[in-house]
Amino acid sequence: MDHLSTHSRPLGIFTTEIPWTSHIPTGAKETLVVYCSDKRGTIAIPELVSKLGIAHFFAIAIPGPTLAFMHVERKGYMRIYSYVVRECAKFLIHKAHIEEVVLIHHDDCRWKQEHGMDTHEHNDIQLADTWFKRFLPQIGRRYFLMHPDEQGMVAFKELPSTP
Ligand SMILES: [Zn+2]
Repeated sequence: MDHLSTHSRPLGIFTTEIPWTSHIPTGAKETLVVYCSDKRGTIAIPELVSKLGIAHFFAIAIPGPTLAFMHVERKGYMRIYSYVVRECAKFLIHKAHIEEVVLIHHDDCRWKQEHGMDTHEHNDIQLADTWFKRFLPQIGRRYFLMHPDEQGMVAFKELPSTP
């Protein structure tokens, strides 16, 4: 019996319905969305982004992204992790003329648990907000907490950024 699933069969060339352009298409307002790799997020976040009126966006999807931006001293590889994620954000924000960043996090993040982080939602965001305000003061900042609502649906609660 063929052990390969349908998804792992070689595809050859697959052509999408999306036209290729030699330049990156520009939007009304360039946005960078930073979120956790968690599949629950990757399923639901396009719906949030669409609700925000953003047609296309730049993305950083990485486990526990809020931790990378929290303005606290890191050691060992967590220091490297923070450095790399922050440099990626700076690169995109400068090169792609990003005007607004949308940062989404969730409390039951495995990456956070794995690294012994026990922080509250507002503390996470406030610490990340401090970094964005200090190093990228020119961009707009929107923050969301992804959580289950009373009906068990994925919900996003907007959290305040500091002025
Ligand atoms: Zn996570």
